[in-house]
Amino acid sequence: MTGGLFGDGLRTRKCIQMAISPIAIRPPRPPVPWTPLVIADERCKGCELCVAACPKAVLALDRGRVNLLGYHPVRLTDASACTSCAFCARVCPDAVFTVWVAPREAQPAPREERVR
Ligand code: SF4
Ligand code: SF4
Repeated sequence: MTGGLFGDGLRTRKCIQMAISPIAIRPPRPPVPWTPLVIADERCKGCELCVAACPKAVLALDRGRVNLLGYHPVRLTDASACTSCAFCARVCPDAVFTVWVAPREAQPAPREERVR
């Protein structure tokens, strides 16, 4: 009998070779930095309503880029200053923003309650 566990013996040997080959070992991917905003900038029309609405002044048009609609799209200039208030998402007429709240470990520790 020539069949292996996964069919014929040759295919089984290839599976084992791929599993133990050093070429198959990929280096770990660098961590993706967390960001509070996902900006679908291909939909941005550069109206700057969000820029005016942001209380932290961390949105600006990217004057070095032009999207497929022909506008300079908005970009987040300082992710660490964004509070995820979502004012930008509320005023944007083109639903460009998806806003995420910071993961718990990235948020400041709650203040201790005062003891009288
Ligand atoms: S979520 Fe709030 S702080 Fe962050 S970019 Fe939008 S408006 Fe500014
Ligand atoms: S409000 Fe929306 S369409 Fe206008 S600049 Fe901001 S992201 Fe672009």
